[in-house]
Amino acid sequence: MAIRSISRITKGIATLEGAGFLVHRPFPSAGLSDFDPFLLFDEMGPTDVPPGEAKGAPDHPHRGFETVTYMLAGSFRHKDSQGHEGKLEPGDVQWMTAGRGVIHSEEPSQEFQRTGGTLHGVQLWVNLPKQDKMIRPHYQEIPRAKIPSAQTPEGRVSVRILAGESLGKQAVIETRTPILYLDFALQPGGKVVQLVPRDFNAFAYVIGGTAGFAGHPERIQRGNMVAFAKDGDEVSIEAGAENGSPARVFLVGGRPLNEPIARYGPFVMNTPREIEEAFEDYSSGRMGSIDF
Ligand code: FE
Repeated sequence: MAIRSISRITKGIATLEGAGFLVHRPFPSAGLSDFDPFLLFDEMGPTDVPPGEAKGAPDHPHRGFETVTYMLAGSFRHKDSQGHEGKLEPGDVQWMTAGRGVIHSEEPSQEFQRTGGTLHGVQLWVNLPKQDKMIRPHYQEIPRAKIPSAQTPEGRVSVRILAGESLGKQAVIETRTPILYLDFALQPGGKVVQLVPRDFNAFAYVIGGTAGFAGHPERIQRGNMVAFAKDGDEVSIEAGAENGSPARVFLVGGRPLNEPIARYGPFVMNTPREIEEAFEDYSSGRMGSIDF
């Protein structure tokens, strides 16, 4: 067993998405086009939204990959061209396999629009292997209470397991390729060593407080993505006892697909021709529409 070292640290770039909501995006960026098998990671907010002013992403398509939305504060409602509708509350996860194509909207819920409040969440895009890009779209919607969680024996680190396995517990969400997606909460002085198979690409995103990673002399502040080298099969995360405040860290890993990527906006395929086909199918209505 060996602890992985850090290969790069990337700060999320502020970007406006959808109808104009603020996200911080460590990738894709000019310096990091993707992180195979991951295509995008966005932190939405945290933003304090006055009543009536929350913005979302009106009707838009996706093809060829999966969007994983994890709500942390506030609430979103989604609707799509498959006739599917649902609400995401804090702690809920929506794992949407767009496959051959869906059109959906992601908007603040009516209740949230009425009351306003803090909006905070993350969205991860997971690429699909070539043979799965045109599968039938489907959803895994897991409410907060059904996400498995575990604690270290001394109780200073807890984890919510969105995908993969941690501290002896297994996720309920199924993935098309091997993926790890963990949400660690660390009390001051808490430390955890997580198994991450050597062939996985893996990164951590500090979503709260500051965190330390083995071998790196400095604490990493919230809003930073830490990419790990493939020089080990474990990742070590800690919240220093010295700063007296807890840390929250997402750890995300997956086996790279090593396949060509052709992407344009909401379509991610293997060749430019397949991107043209996606546009043709979208503009001719073959991805459907939201009509309820
Ligand atoms: Fe979307």
